[in-house]
Amino acid sequence: MIELRRADYEAIIAHARREAPRECCGLLAGHGSRVERVYEVPNRADAAAEFFAERGLYPEGKISGLRGPEVLTAERFFMDPEAQFRALRDMEARGLEHIGNYHSHPASPARPSRTDIELAAYWSHVYHLICSLADPEHPDLRAYRIVNGQVTEVPIRIIDEAESGSAAER
Ligand SMILES: [Zn+2]
Repeated sequence: MIELRRADYEAIIAHARREAPRECCGLLAGHGSRVERVYEVPNRADAAAEFFAERGLYPEGKISGLRGPEVLTAERFFMDPEAQFRALRDMEARGLEHIGNYHSHPASPARPSRTDIELAAYWSHVYHLICSLADPEHPDLRAYRIVNGQVTEVPIRIIDEAESGSAAER
């Protein structure tokens, strides 16, 4: 189980909505399974598109059927390395652990894509949260552990501010 304050839950959904139809991405910091801080990280898929273009490494779009730079900007995220580094340094300064990553799926379900599972190989120690906006009226935020290609969904417990004090004592 991962614990998320309602304000942070709302912030992730708001970030996803703001970036749509592009994917949003960010980092989660806290202690153990409790998120205490959300870091939005700019999605630099556009810059990554240039990088891949130079090397002829475009993936094929699974949802859009696109092939080329549009695939990367529409169906992928690439965290800005500098913002990512600054966020990690800030966590360290605040005595927080990096416990999760999040990104959005503007048009597909809140399940890790094949690419998400491949990328998670570098992040097996953290939770992976995905916010789907496939049904715009009902955003679907889900959490996973992804270890050695094995995906396990982890329940999210939303903590309302009123009960955050008692939850902290547990
Ligand atoms: Zn994804």
